[in-house]
Amino acid sequence: MLTRTTVELMLGAAGYCTHPERLTLRGGTLRPVQFPAGFACIIHPVLGPVLFDTGYTSRFFKETAHLPASLYRHITPVIYEDQDSAALQLKAIGIAPEQVRYVVLSHFHADHIGGVRDFPSAQFVYLQDAYESVRQLGALRALKAGFLPGLLPEEFARRSLPFRRDEAVQRFEAGFPFQKGWDLFGDGSMLAVELSGHAEGMIGIFISTQQHDYFLCADAVWSSRAIHENRPPHPAAGLIMSSRSDYRDSFCKVMELHKKYPEVCIVPSHCRQALARWGGSLGHER
Ligand SMILES: [Zn+2]
Repeated sequence: MLTRTTVELMLGAAGYCTHPERLTLRGGTLRPVQFPAGFACIIHPVLGPVLFDTGYTSRFFKETAHLPASLYRHITPVIYEDQDSAALQLKAIGIAPEQVRYVVLSHFHADHIGGVRDFPSAQFVYLQDAYESVRQLGALRALKAGFLPGLLPEEFARRSLPFRRDEAVQRFEAGFPFQKGWDLFGDGSMLAVELSGHAEGMIGIFISTQQHDYFLCADAVWSSRAIHENRPPHPAAGLIMSSRSDYRDSFCKVMELHKKYPEVCIVPSHCRQALARWGGSLGHER
């Protein structure tokens, strides 16, 4: 096991967006394909349900009703119905929104933070630089960074528990693709590592269930195929990246993890195959 404390994991998706596969997978098809807006519900033995990202909610449509933000939904059309929210899906399996005490945010793109307002008791855990890089952007630059500030609650900063780059310490064995990381809850249950490039300060997390080690790698890769076939995204996808060279570094680390530690289940946020294999409609793995 990669981590000290095992958890239970449920993977779900709250809505989909569509764009040509070729943008996310070199040599892929030009026809639009669906990319689930994935989230993970991690049941911690002491802390209870902890969310990793949230997917979309109907608030996305409200926040993108007018220019310039409406460009966002034209560029990546979103398929979403009210019952798709993470909060309602959790409710359906007996987890009330108030029970969620922590929401870990991989980065601040709208399809990851869309549901944070639905969890009124939650504190938000993220790498400080991820928020700092978007917090003060004007409307157009925020849009280019995929950030819709209205998705965050007014008291977001007060309810936040950000961690800093210089707090990262050695967490992994020699030869592991990542050297430093953060022990998010101090009990070895969730180890975060930096995956900048897709977005500044993006993180992924390592968790372990009784059965498997998982790496929730957010948007460092968009699909399991990209990893198995070593196919990075189309260069045009670089337009929305915070740094192409950081992206390449992060992509290489995920590839190295896959090669050296093939037993680790790598879960990209927007991969239909990963969702079907390890989660799907909040399939429950204990
Ligand atoms: Zn993203």
